[in-house]
Amino acid sequence: MVQGNESFEIYLKDDSQNPTFSFKDRASALVSAWAMENGISTLIAASTGNAGSSLAGICAAQHQKSIILIPAKAPLAKLTQIMMYGANIIPVNGTYDDAFDLSVEASRLFGFYNRNTAYNPLTIEGKKIVSFEIYNQLEFQVPDRVFVPTGDGVILSGVYKGFEEMLLLGITDRIPVIVAVQAAGSPNLVNNIDHQNFSITKSATIADSISVDVPKNFFMSAGFMKKYKGESVTVTDEEILQASVQLSGSAGIFAEPAAAAAFAGLLNFTRSDRIPHGSKNVVLLTGNGLKDLASVQSQIHLPAPVDPDILSLGQLIRTILSKNP
Ligand SMILES: *Cc1c(COP(=O)(O)O)cnc(C)c1O
Repeated sequence: MVQGNESFEIYLKDDSQNPTFSFKDRASALVSAWAMENGISTLIAASTGNAGSSLAGICAAQHQKSIILIPAKAPLAKLTQIMMYGANIIPVNGTYDDAFDLSVEASRLFGFYNRNTAYNPLTIEGKKIVSFEIYNQLEFQVPDRVFVPTGDGVILSGVYKGFEEMLLLGITDRIPVIVAVQAAGSPNLVNNIDHQNFSITKSATIADSISVDVPKNFFMSAGFMKKYKGESVTVTDEEILQASVQLSGSAGIFAEPAAAAAFAGLLNFTRSDRIPHGSKNVVLLTGNGLKDLASVQSQIHLPAPVDPDILSLGQLIRTILSKNP
């Protein structure tokens, strides 16, 4: 991308093509394999949508049972995925945070294996692999910045853990600057990093996958951010929608709002001149846009249908060409 006289590189890491179309498969695959190895047949998870649809899909493939607790208001596509994969879906009359607490109690009561993000340590082990892949795909170079869409902070910590392990093993010699991108309507991780007293605001954002009242992996994320001088930014829903349109139209990647938020974070940094000339910047695109069509309705306009004759079509095409030569 070129900005004034400055130019820098952007790499889009597209996790929307994973088996259930989100980054969460990296964690679910490992959790499911561990359960299989240990003879556990029923897994449970609370989810804003993607962790649940991911666990449901991977358990279906592995012939395991899954129970998914999810806010009743989650996007329809994510609810649909969970049901199509044949999981036991339990919509909860409450927030993701309520579903989380309930699922932990249910695991204690019934002995199910719990996949919850920030609760099951294997989720981070699965997610850290993305850093190995980034290093590998950049032909064994560490990028300068990685923009990570952040809710609970497990992806963020996973990215750090992957780069930290490569550093400790002497494979690499530095850690990239990780930029935690949160929705302005759900800024509870980045807003509390430097504070003694927590202040939690009630979440309200279109980016449902990063809409979290109490970040479940706060301490680990904050620890990594302080140790390695991480940066952060919050982006408004309007910025997320615009970034989503720009990303789709310029790169052919239709990302769900939480993932587009990471790109919005990069655009925000670009506008405030925070991306150095010549730097390599990675954006994690963590989920597929088809998972949440309702959020982008305001950005699109389906034209009136044309009559099926060449005269009408010709007229229409000439109008389009005159507007858009
Ligand atoms: C879960 C998720 C995130 C955020 O991950 P956390 O570990 O909760 O910070 C971001 N984007 C998408 C699409 C997700 O599903």
